[in-house]
Amino acid sequence: MRPLIAATATQEHPMPWGWLLGALLLAAVGYAGSCWWWPFARCRRCDGRGKFTRADSKVWRTCRRCKGSGSRLRAGRKVWNRFAKVRRDAH
Ligand SMILES: [Zn+2]
Repeated sequence: MRPLIAATATQEHPMPWGWLLGALLLAAVGYAGSCWWWPFARCRRCDGRGKFTRADSKVWRTCRRCKGSGSRLRAGRKVWNRFAKVRRDAH
């Protein structure tokens, strides 16, 4: 617990920018962590099915965007991969 003096201190910052920055940083770290842990998301083009079926579902074709896997690399993971490549090339 903080001493009682801190509670009576004069307000130097009327806006809680520190909290806002902290929350943003936390969200960014959380997003980066989730992209690292779950690099794939459901393909938006085929809704994760990997293929398109005709209305009667007798014929189908594979989704060209995800090449039939039904998953796509998340935007955050793409950025991560780009940085990883730059780091690899540097060495
Ligand atoms: Zn797809």
